[in-house]
Amino acid sequence: MGWRYRQQLRQLVVETPVTSTLLDQDPAALAACGVQALALDFDGVLAHHGADQPLPDVTDWLRRAVAVFGAERVCILSNRPFGPRVDWFATHFPGIGFVSGVRKKPYPNGLIKTGELASVPLSSILMVDDRLLTGCLSALLAGSRPCYIRNPFRSYQLHPVKEFFFMLLRRAERCFVALP
Ligand SMILES: [Mg+2]
Repeated sequence: MGWRYRQQLRQLVVETPVTSTLLDQDPAALAACGVQALALDFDGVLAHHGADQPLPDVTDWLRRAVAVFGAERVCILSNRPFGPRVDWFATHFPGIGFVSGVRKKPYPNGLIKTGELASVPLSSILMVDDRLLTGCLSALLAGSRPCYIRNPFRSYQLHPVKEFFFMLLRRAERCFVALP
């Protein structure tokens, strides 16, 4: 499916500034554009890979997002919905749920479940992800809106091997979708 959708994914890369992070997305501006719910990837989007909790700036951003959309319309859609990160959200943002028990991205099941939990149409959900061939592709397959994070949070100090691997993977994805 990544091959079939490569043109749309390529367009997404072209339209996305290379410095983009989650913090560039203003929740109120998103709502003004018709976004009614958020599906947020964790690794790279809320913090560096494998982190237990979002970065402090992201925590502030989440407060603004909850104020705009309501906690029940902000979901975490990660392929790793387990561990201390789940406990952290239960403590600090009890209304924000992890979508779990679904087929992993790029299958659209997580977004379909997000739509059910948030009671909004799939076309009004923004999937924010730093991976083209998982989160962004799942948004296209579900008929939702992809938001590509081109400059994900990383910590080469804490996880040099993993972060290097994902850096190569993200670069390989961009090469893949650039194929004619
Ligand atoms: Mg990620």
